[in-house]
Amino acid sequence: MIPLAKPVFGLAEWENLSTCLTTGWISSQGKFVKEFEDNFAKWVGCRYGVATTSGTTALHLALVATGLKEGDEVIVPVLTFIASANVVKYCGAKPVFVDAHPGYWNIDPNKIKEKITQRTKAIMPVHLYGHPCDMGPIMQLAGMYGLWVIEDCAEAHGAKYNNQMVGSIGDIGCFSFYANKIITTGEGGICTTNNRDLYEHMVLLRDHGMSKTKKYWFDEVGFNYRITNLQAAVGLGQMSKLESILKERERIKMDYDSYLGTAKPSYGWAKDVCWLYTTLVNNRDKVIEALAKEDIDSRPMFYPLTQMPPYFSKEGFPMAESISRRGITLPTYIGLEKCDIKRICKIVKEIGEI
Ligand SMILES: *Cc1c(COP(=O)(O)O)cnc(C)c1O
Repeated sequence: MIPLAKPVFGLAEWENLSTCLTTGWISSQGKFVKEFEDNFAKWVGCRYGVATTSGTTALHLALVATGLKEGDEVIVPVLTFIASANVVKYCGAKPVFVDAHPGYWNIDPNKIKEKITQRTKAIMPVHLYGHPCDMGPIMQLAGMYGLWVIEDCAEAHGAKYNNQMVGSIGDIGCFSFYANKIITTGEGGICTTNNRDLYEHMVLLRDHGMSKTKKYWFDEVGFNYRITNLQAAVGLGQMSKLESILKERERIKMDYDSYLGTAKPSYGWAKDVCWLYTTLVNNRDKVIEALAKEDIDSRPMFYPLTQMPPYFSKEGFPMAESISRRGITLPTYIGLEKCDIKRICKIVKEIGEI
């Protein structure tokens, strides 16, 4: 059986976890949390990191910290994982959807301006499947209209736009450490930022909104989005092999590209990373079936959010629809053998007619 994803652990995770258990420091009060936050933020190129219980809570925390509230609007790509839009709803605000770029599948920067209104407060570019968004024009629009930029980096640890790490370009970057992400803490996430005020507000909101100086005093409604020392212990271990994980994943992408004889077009400003290798085929559902018969797991691409009940809309998003219909996600994990990639590609090419 070839699964879609599989985490990779080593001695570093074991040793850190064992430290948690032997010292009894297992909650968010343990010392690995700050170390993990500092370590990850520095790697991204940010001054501050706020680790959370998930990528979703990281995004929610970021939006609340910017002051997003009922009646506000946030620009979100229509082709993304649903959490990107749900967190906007959690704030009582409205996600306003933008179509995908045909080449790299992320939010099309040329279609953002027409969606900006008096109520727009933020843009949320999502670096989908490890590919960076075209951040230049997005930052320019945000500057012109005074909008926050919250980057959803859940699938793109280490991707770069013009040599700058995603997560350090907008006001806040949000990463996920779910088990199938590039590095994992089981469940977990982090917000990265260079803005001290946003950082302090996120730290406060993550811990029920409790005052820094007065115990059990609360000035606003906060959350418990604190990560545990156990998760941070695993995260630190993962950090120590992050560069080698990215290199291995790059090799997997190159093998897929060469066996399939297709690759996404490349852009001078983009350095992508390989999250779950995703490509476009014909007869997508038949390809998934044929792979399943060989005990190989695969997934359809995300559906455009406006096709599903929570965000139903008659508005057309032709690019997202066309990409999503043909998109398939293939097994991607450290330890996936070259011969297995070759076997997978043979089926994909034959049934997918590429
Ligand atoms: C995984 C993911 C999230 C949510 O992260 P969780 O840690 O699962 O909450 C958000 N956005 C995107 C694009 C994702 O892929």
